[in-house]
Amino acid sequence: MLDNHHRIVNYLRLSVTDRCNLRCVYCIPEEGIPFMPHREILTYEEMLRLVELCILQGIRKVRLTGGEPLVRKGFIAFVQRLCKTEGLEEITLTTNGVFLKDFARALRDCGICRINVSMDTLKPDRFRLITRRDDYDRVHEGIEEAERVGFNPIKLNVVAMRGINDDEILDFARLTREKPYHVRFIELMPVGSENGFWTAERFIPSKEVFDRIQRLGSLTPIGRTPLDGPSERYTLDGARGEIGFIGALSHHFCANCNRLRLTADGHLRGCLFSEEETDLKTPLREGRDDGYILDLIRHSLEEKPANHGLMELQPRKCTRSMNGIGG
Ligand code: SAM
Repeated sequence: MLDNHHRIVNYLRLSVTDRCNLRCVYCIPEEGIPFMPHREILTYEEMLRLVELCILQGIRKVRLTGGEPLVRKGFIAFVQRLCKTEGLEEITLTTNGVFLKDFARALRDCGICRINVSMDTLKPDRFRLITRRDDYDRVHEGIEEAERVGFNPIKLNVVAMRGINDDEILDFARLTREKPYHVRFIELMPVGSENGFWTAERFIPSKEVFDRIQRLGSLTPIGRTPLDGPSERYTLDGARGEIGFIGALSHHFCANCNRLRLTADGHLRGCLFSEEETDLKTPLREGRDDGYILDLIRHSLEEKPANHGLMELQPRKCTRSMNGIGG
């Protein structure tokens, strides 16, 4: 389905919970934030119905996210049902990896195609500083288990932050020579309840990350596929894996944006940074029929903002937090 700016919208990021077991410095404050009351969060049944309706509007790929999806009770049973839904070509998961060791096998058996693990550092002490939790070993073991049960490739999401982990950019790049991992560098975004964490000094444009990695060898571009997200993909000389750059702020990828987001409390968003949302939960719970909700989805999709309107160094801050929207 095309939006009003002639983009094919085929990718839904579905947040299954706003709760998370980490407290990453750019996302959730140390003391936590008021999470959504349970009754406000969509039931799995409601999510499945909305996904089916989104498929009728052209969605072909679902990424499960949060919060941390693996902390929600009954998640595996939900994924089993989601994977049986007709019309989806890809179901993927983004996780912080803390519970991955326990669930990797079950996720693989359900039919999850790929897993992204968020991992901003390869140093245990630094992991504690960034996430305010002591789970480095568990995440590491989770990644190994995911590899062992056959997930390939495993994608690692790295938020590049000056003065925090930028001295590890080359280590992450080298990792793609050792392992078939897809490392994706994400620009630090002014989003989330830790909005104050974003500063121009901490922000590193993707171009700078790219230039630094070129010191290791040349980067060869990889072509895009229709279900690809906004990552610009490359292989480093001699690598088994890939390196991706998600220039959320500096590189206006909005013209290729194919995404919708469904928040854990059932609001459909056309853009991470737009405050525009369509409430699907209320009509769903009022017992409205499929046609009514399909119209709301179609409208939200067509009205997807042309761009996120952020400028590189004077970013507008986004009020809803990342864990609430679904990162
Ligand atoms: N808990 C899961 C995880 O850790 O991947 C899924 C949710 S998390 C919000 C999704 C992604 O958003 C993570 O890769 C995280 O690093 C990223 N993220 C959160 N806040 C961010 C920010 N302010 N700037 C850039 N990336 C951010």
